[in-house]
Amino acid sequence: MATVYFADMEVKSLSRKVTLPAKFQRMMDALDVAQRFEGKTVAVKMHLGSGLGYTTLHPLFVRLLTDKIKEGGGKPFITDGTSAVWDTAKRGYTEETLGAKIIPIAGATEKYYRTVEVNHTASNGATLDELHLCGNLIDADAVIVLSHFKGHGEASYGGAIKNLAMGAVTRKSRAALHRLEVGAFHWDNDKCIHCGRCIENCPTGACSEDEDGEIDINIHNCVYCKHCAKSCPTGAIEVDSDSYKRLQEGLAISAREVAAHFEHGEILYFNLALDITPLCDCWGLTTQPLVPDVGIFGSEYMLPVDKAALDHIKMENFIEGSLPAGRTLAERSGHLFERVWGTDPYNQIKMGEQFGLGDSGYEIEPID
Ligand code: SF4
Ligand code: SF4
Repeated sequence: MATVYFADMEVKSLSRKVTLPAKFQRMMDALDVAQRFEGKTVAVKMHLGSGLGYTTLHPLFVRLLTDKIKEGGGKPFITDGTSAVWDTAKRGYTEETLGAKIIPIAGATEKYYRTVEVNHTASNGATLDELHLCGNLIDADAVIVLSHFKGHGEASYGGAIKNLAMGAVTRKSRAALHRLEVGAFHWDNDKCIHCGRCIENCPTGACSEDEDGEIDINIHNCVYCKHCAKSCPTGAIEVDSDSYKRLQEGLAISAREVAAHFEHGEILYFNLALDITPLCDCWGLTTQPLVPDVGIFGSEYMLPVDKAALDHIKMENFIEGSLPAGRTLAERSGHLFERVWGTDPYNQIKMGEQFGLGDSGYEIEPID
């Protein structure tokens, strides 16, 4: 069983020592962050957000992490996608606040990467032939995957797996991963009588008719409820709800290829389950959190740290009214993220196990 350290949100007294940042410091000590990275160059991979998003990771946690790495003689740098690093100051991320330089993960023009062949063919025939692994990350001696744990439209949730799988490959490879989803919907113009029932019955506004009279599905807003197909009187719409599984296979493969560049113990994972909003931070906007803050999870293991965070996000803690306008929880059982996005978040874990990311079993070690 992998150990996952967990710092919860409880504040037992009015003392800084029992608040989350102090617990995070003790968690880093439990994981030997200072000694582990002595003399090493450490890439801290985080999502720096974009636009007007104001609930990306608070700079204080990043600063505590870089201070801890430096305490033992390590040399940290912060890294994220090339486009994300240019306007970070307005979200509070600067070299001064974070205590480390911010470096574009694949160089200034995203031309610094290493190609690996993966030769994966998905069930719909889509292929993932190769991946471009971002050079500045895989050149580092060690990596800390510092993830904002939250919802994500197509992947159901974003955590450690996705931070590496999508965040440590180039834009071209991200597009190839998204292409695995192609074929989720099939609309037959010849069968369509333009009655509009699919649009009326779509709970999220994902289904619309474009100016050419073609039915269009915005996959980012779709929860795969199939109301559109079920309400269609002519069978003009078919929904392939397995498309998200194909993406999650691709995520597992990509995360595996990035992690393969490092020995066990050279990568640490921290999931900060704070400001758990439904959308990826790349949207550049902030909506209400779906549940109260949960805390911080830390481990040497990728799947256990994600599974532990998922297990601690409970449906019963859902904050009524927190979904963006026009969205409702799907009437189905399952994890909160499944009811928000229609896709089972645990499938990402299952795919991880299937595609070589290890076992997801864990035991919690509380940090008081
Ligand atoms: S599957 Fe559901 S959410 Fe997706 S387009 Fe159809 S009705 Fe809308
Ligand atoms: S419900 Fe079916 S027939 Fe009616 S507009 Fe939608 S796709 Fe066309």
